[in-house]
Amino acid sequence: LDAKEEFTHTTLAANVMRPRRNEVPLTVLTQDDMTVEDLEATINETTYNGFPVIVSKESQRLVGFALRRDITIALENARRKQEGIVTSSRVHFTQHTPTLPADSPRPLKLRSILDMSPFTVTDHTPMEIVVDIFRKLGLRQCLVTHNGNVLGIITKKNILEHLEQLKQNVESLTSPWHNNEKGYS
Ligand code: ADP
Repeated sequence: LDAKEEFTHTTLAANVMRPRRNEVPLTVLTQDDMTVEDLEATINETTYNGFPVIVSKESQRLVGFALRRDITIALENARRKQEGIVTSSRVHFTQHTPTLPADSPRPLKLRSILDMSPFTVTDHTPMEIVVDIFRKLGLRQCLVTHNGNVLGIITKKNILEHLEQLKQNVESLTSPWHNNEKGYS
């Protein structure tokens, strides 16, 4: 790839978001078919600061975003104070309780901790714009979607890494080594 082309090449949100191609998929929560056990397992097995909430595994449609901190507190409170919440209790982020068999344990409603309008950009958004949005709105993270389905996430740290990468690209373009390689000196 010609150096000049590389410099003018526009990086898109899809190139910076995680997971990268071949990485483990995004850890998401579904809006009404997980149990307290599933949710506790997700919290214990990952360290992410937050999780996109989707309609279902089949649809991947974005419903909102829930922070690890809020989920942890809600689970602890529920276990301690809410009579009837057990490991097999259904968790729902929806307004209404899903229809459950008559003998089901009391469900855990987590609607109140759901951010229903998390910031999103489409996968084709140029990173220049994404960086600008992060700066201007002071975002911690932003979700990347395609046709309303969630594909990935970009955190503030990912933005900083991206900017560092850009800086290094510019430095390599202007370094004497680069000129030597091109036979300019
Ligand atoms: P930070 O980027 O500040 O370390 P996180 O701990 O939330 O924040 O994320 C660590 C890495 O994992 C980042 O590269 C981020 O893009 C990615 N990530 C964040 N949330 C998720 C998630 N729910 N599923 C998969 N990857 C995620």
